[in-house]
Amino acid sequence: MDNYKKFYINGEWVDPVQSTDFDVIHPGNEEKVATIALGSKADVDLAVEAAKNAFESWQFSTVDERVALLERMIEIYNSRAEEFIKIMPLEMGTTMSFSREVQMPVGTGHMEAAIEALKEHQFERPSPRGGSLLIDEPVGIVGMITPWNWPVNQIVIKVAPALAAGCTIVLKPSEYSPLSSIMLAEVIDAAGCPPGVFNLVNGDGPGVGAAISSHPDIDMVSFTGSTQAGKAITKAAADTIKRVTLELGGKSPNLLFADADLKEAAKISVDSCFNNNGQSCDAASRLLVERSVYDEVVELVTAEVANTQVGDPMEEGDHIGPVVNKRQFENVQRMIQVGIDDGARLAAGGLGLPDGFNKGYYVRPTLFTDVNNDMNIARQEVFGPVLAILPFDTEEEAIEIANDTVYGLSAFVQSSDSERVNRVSRKLRAGVVNVNGNAADYDVPFGGYKQSGNGREAGPQGFHEYLETKAVTL
Ligand code: NAD
Repeated sequence: MDNYKKFYINGEWVDPVQSTDFDVIHPGNEEKVATIALGSKADVDLAVEAAKNAFESWQFSTVDERVALLERMIEIYNSRAEEFIKIMPLEMGTTMSFSREVQMPVGTGHMEAAIEALKEHQFERPSPRGGSLLIDEPVGIVGMITPWNWPVNQIVIKVAPALAAGCTIVLKPSEYSPLSSIMLAEVIDAAGCPPGVFNLVNGDGPGVGAAISSHPDIDMVSFTGSTQAGKAITKAAADTIKRVTLELGGKSPNLLFADADLKEAAKISVDSCFNNNGQSCDAASRLLVERSVYDEVVELVTAEVANTQVGDPMEEGDHIGPVVNKRQFENVQRMIQVGIDDGARLAAGGLGLPDGFNKGYYVRPTLFTDVNNDMNIARQEVFGPVLAILPFDTEEEAIEIANDTVYGLSAFVQSSDSERVNRVSRKLRAGVVNVNGNAADYDVPFGGYKQSGNGREAGPQGFHEYLETKAVTL
């Protein structure tokens, strides 16, 4: 609480140079839970200076020192698990059970995977013909800009590998979910991170975000968020030729073939779209169903959606919670209206608050059927509990519809035919293909094709993004 209006720069909690107050609102009841400070370019300058000075020595820290830091971070993070579990539903509306089972544990998972990648990496090796020495070095000072929907995950998946690589960091978390980020900074501080190696400045996109993405002394920007902001950041970073990695939006297809276990597949399909209240970048929001089982699947999925309970995010249970804020609620309402206007059939849910609610940013679990891939509801990211079902006739057509999108983050395949799964997975233009609801482990790279981004996060590949390779001719 003491640090809400401060920034973490050079190993200390400091007052902003100049700041604007910003209220953090609980999406479950629209009440203020905290006020934070939004900083400015002047705060970014101080943080970058600290990161630059710290890089002088941190780049030469040993593997053992970095492993020790990450291990201490895991220990302290886990010891504060209950606080992290409770703060995320409060600041952004993920449910308590999802926070406990997924949002908090992923932080530990990504730190452990970063340690594994660091220990296994060969930082020095001969060139293929043996004439030179190749040395991997940290890329330098990394600016990180993160979203609110997976607040801890999106930060740890960047910070842990960057620290492991020997980089120093200036982080700007989302202004909508800053409380868990402040706690993470406290964890990093308590773990004994040397001053300046990790810095946090709160702020909004046009202020602190833009100052980071255009800063001449920042070597790399790692961004997670919307495709629109990703484009602005890439342009801002171009003048100083920064390395830019982007984890952006998606409109992930879920290909459900007639040979799948349909009852189980219906459950997986709804959960893969609605988990985290429908606010995941890889949400399986386009369900493509083989026509021979279309009517049966529509019936099963309609029942699943109609049975989805909406409830208080601060309570444990398998209900879904609200979307993050008023702007997001209005966006989702607009997209539901667009679906209706485009002629899709509204099979469940619809506009307005769910029954029994008169405040909070709760959305009715919504299902559109008889959607075609030209409709806006099939092309634009909704980022809420809204699922669209489209029929297909052949495997080729399913693949064509799946790939007919500007995005390429994730795809889902549900089938009991392993040869088909193998064949289809190779033809899908997406960074992750999720088969029959099986989740990826922490050593697996995550990232997108096309306008879903550039680069990969997590595991060894995520770690490599923070390295430069130097060739020394001998
Ligand atoms: P957003 O793009 O509005 O904001 C993300 C972050 O960028 C925030 O910290 C924001 O303050 C900052 N920002 C916004 N405009 C900026 C600018 N012009 N310059 C610099 N910084 C700027 O996204 P959001 O609403 O917070 O998150 C939702 C989006 O994130 C969705 O599109 C979702 O698909 C995407 N997302 C992607 C992944 C992934 O791994 N691919 C993961 C989570 C979320």
